[in-house]
Amino acid sequence: MKEEEIKRRLEYLAQRGVRWTVQRYAIMEYLYDHRIHPTAEEIYEGLRKRLPAISRATVYNTLELFKEHGLVKELLVEKERARYDYDVSPHIHLKCLRCGRIYDLFVPPPSLPPEYEGHRVEEVICYAMGVCKGCREKGDAGTS
Ligand code: ZN
Ligand code: MN
Repeated sequence: MKEEEIKRRLEYLAQRGVRWTVQRYAIMEYLYDHRIHPTAEEIYEGLRKRLPAISRATVYNTLELFKEHGLVKELLVEKERARYDYDVSPHIHLKCLRCGRIYDLFVPPPSLPPEYEGHRVEEVICYAMGVCKGCREKGDAGTS
């Protein structure tokens, strides 16, 4: 259930001393509803009609807060801007080089030993580039 799931996340924050506000709820809900890895700007645009008091700074700060507490994943698959994912489970992102959409590939990212040649490995981030199914079916630019 959506409401329960979001509430659980915000209660987790509350236990860590982070107050839950209408705006924080709305941002988490937006991420729940839009599993297309939106940017902060898209989230802001999506919410400002319903919440005229929301500011860009609030959206950016809230995403940062959620990220710090492990409640959203920040994707750096594009150098221009970060994207955000409600789903924090390990999976791989494929960026379509034609339409620019970011797809979920639900396969486990490659694993590394926690220590390798004296280095400590903390996180493996894996992005794939390619052409998505939809673009391949359209097939215009030749190499589908
Ligand atoms: Zn595509
Ligand atoms: Mn994802």
